[in-house]
Formats: sequence, C-alpha cells, structure tokens
Amino acid sequence: MFFHKTPAPARWLFPSLLWKKKTNNKEIYLTFDDGPIPGLTEYILDVLKDYNVKATFFCVGENIKKNKSIAERALREGHRLGNHSYNHCNGWQTSTIDYISNVVRCQRHLLDLHDHDVKPLFRPPYGKMKLSQIKLLKKKYQIVMWDVLSGDFLNDMEPEVCLKKSIKATGKGSIVIFHDNIKAEENVKYSLSRYIKHFLDKGYSFKTL
Ligand SMILES: [Zn+2]
Repeated sequence: MFFHKTPAPARWLFPSLLWKKKTNNKEIYLTFDDGPIPGLTEYILDVLKDYNVKATFFCVGENIKKNKSIAERALREGHRLGNHSYNHCNGWQTSTIDYISNVVRCQRHLLDLHDHDVKPLFRPPYGKMKLSQIKLLKKKYQIVMWDVLSGDFLNDMEPEVCLKKSIKATGKGSIVIFHDNIKAEENVKYSLSRYIKHFLDKGYSFKTL
C-alpha cells in the first residue's frame, strides 16, 4: 500500500516529529533525499536555480564524502542540508547505539562543510526508527518526516502519475519528498520543474526548512 499523503494517525502518534509546517501562507518545503549524486543532484540544483527556488537536501554521509563539491554548491546556492545517516541505515534493523553513531558520523561530514546548524535536521532513511532512537536523537536534531511522498523512487510509478498525485496531495506548509537517487531519476526529471511551475503559478513560494 502506498500513500502519497501521510495518513493522519502517523502524525498523531509522533507529534514530536515534524510532518508539515503549520502555516496559512502558500509555502511548500521541497526536500531531496539520498544524495549528493553526480549528475542528478546537479540537474536538480539547476532546476531550482532556474526558478529561483530554495530546498532542503537530506544527504547520506558517504555521498557527501564522495561528492563534497556538490554539497558545497547546494549550500552556496542557499539550500539547507540535513542528515540522512552515514550509509542509509535502517533504524528497525540497527541497535540504538549503532544507529546514533551512524547519524553522528554523517553529521561530522556536514560540519566539515562548515554547516553549523543550531538544531540540525535529521530524516530517518525509510522513515524507520525505534522509539529509543527517536528519544535520543530528538534532543539534538529536529527530526523531519513528510506530508507528501512523491513516490518518485517506485519502479512502477508513471511520471505523469507521480506529478499529478504529488500536486493533489500538496497544500499550505507541505513537506514534500523527492529523491536525488538514480532510482528516481526518470520521475524527478519529468516532474520537478512541472511541479514547481504549477505552484509558482498559483502564488506559492518554496522555502528551506
Ligand atoms: Zn533515503
């Protein structure tokens, strides 16, 4: 079962996690998970630049290590970076101590870029975390989930459907996930600029978290 819109019970169960921004303004928070990846992340940065739109990138530590100049470019162009663990760690399959050290290892790479966030952002890979992991991480990090999942990474997702359903699920304050991940490349390349244009035409603005 796949939901483009996060079901309300998930949000009620975990109110300390950020699912959506409370606002009456026409604002959308675009997020990109899993990069930086040569080619695709740069394509996304070019699109954001064309529309003069800012976004948040939840980076995988080992990808920052391999592609540091792309992460630096994102920061230089006014985007925000968040932590997505060192190697896309699944919280349900990892002990709490190993999970925390995996997240800290990614954070060191972010600090290395001189990205000194007062309250750094963290998004759990697969959205999977144990309660003990949430409890420890939320002291230092703002844990960010999502309100709209574009489904861009799904094999059987048609690009037109990805775009249409993402638009339908988005509202004021939505936090939307796309991926700078090769699995999502076709859908991102089809949907992203159309999605942005649709909402700019409706008077929305795009902000970093
Ligand atoms: Zn991910």
